[in-house]
Amino acid sequence: MRVLLNAGPWLSVPPAGYGGIENVVATLVPALRDRGVQVVLATVGTSTIPADEVVFRHPVPQFPLLQLPYNRVMGCVMAHMDHVVRELARRDDVDLVHDHVEAVGPVVLAALGSAAPPALHTLHWDLGKHPALYENFDGRGRVWVNGVSADQLSRAPAALRAVSLGHVHLATPLAGRRVDVDKGRYAIVLGRITPGKGQDVAARLAHAAGQQLVLAGPVGPYDRPAALARALRDDPDATRNPDVQYWQERVRPWVDGRCVRWVGSVGPAERDELLAGAMVSLCPLQWDEPGGTAVVESLALGTPVAGYRRGCLPELVHDGVTGLLVDPGDEDGLVAAWRDARRLDPRACRRVAAERFAPSRMADDYVSLYEKVRAGQDPF
Ligand code: UDP
Repeated sequence: MRVLLNAGPWLSVPPAGYGGIENVVATLVPALRDRGVQVVLATVGTSTIPADEVVFRHPVPQFPLLQLPYNRVMGCVMAHMDHVVRELARRDDVDLVHDHVEAVGPVVLAALGSAAPPALHTLHWDLGKHPALYENFDGRGRVWVNGVSADQLSRAPAALRAVSLGHVHLATPLAGRRVDVDKGRYAIVLGRITPGKGQDVAARLAHAAGQQLVLAGPVGPYDRPAALARALRDDPDATRNPDVQYWQERVRPWVDGRCVRWVGSVGPAERDELLAGAMVSLCPLQWDEPGGTAVVESLALGTPVAGYRRGCLPELVHDGVTGLLVDPGDEDGLVAAWRDARRLDPRACRRVAAERFAPSRMADDYVSLYEKVRAGQDPF
């Protein structure tokens, strides 16, 4: 089977630091190839992952991914999809498209009708707040959809649920890896610094409870503290980015370099070291986290999770075994979970991750969805 895997026009696969979709694709490609699936990858020019073929190595966008203005972001997506359409028109050896480009991807692929192979689109985002996004979309017969958690799918727009083949949880190549990093005395929040991830709550509670906290992730387009400081000094537009505003107003006041530290966006080696060394991985979610890559990665490195019971968390965390979950907004409960989760067994976290979040398992699940899509099986 030959699959055109559309990773989108954003970051390298694998990414140098932060990169949600790109990390998923980086985990999936080798596991698919191990199963004999031939992968034709549509990605940016700086990607280094081996694939059977890499097509039109799109230039990396000349503006930072997480920065406004949105029209330039969309322009970039449109150009990328134009290349995908041309590539599909040029060849007849692609059996299926596995698309990861939100919104535009499924619409373009459905509009091509029988001029393109059938497609599976993986939802990565929480679309619960955007029910109108796909209002009149009709992918039936051409585009199928899968979620990255049951919760995400249950809140997706009706037009997507109508063509859904179910969900496939995210996986990580870290699952099963030997970990010899000793536990430190800090908790970590790994991920973009953004209101949905709740870094402000974690930082405030760290001070109240006298606990050490490390925040790892970019603030808007700024990967390093020095780059953000420079932008805030020299660029009057820097604070137009909502994540920069969030940082300035609600997170930075708590970052004192002792109780709460921000280390910026960390690359894979530093990320793994920080995650494995943390006593607890915190998820004080203020949104319905759709897939939880950071959760899966924490467990794979033997770090239990403490967080709010919402989004995909109850599906990924075995409450009382690999983490402790409390009701959203219960800050006292979260502090207690933060304190108590460190007593959970890191080996149990690793074992569960190796069983449930192994790349081989994710690839098996995708291959069976590909087969359904190719067979034109109508799941409705
Ligand atoms: N990530 C990373 N370094 C960072 C922050 C994030 O390597 O400093 C990785 C993280 O390990 C995960 C991916 O980026 O694999 C997605 O992170 P996050 O959960 O913030 O992303 P979202 O999918 O919500 O955008």
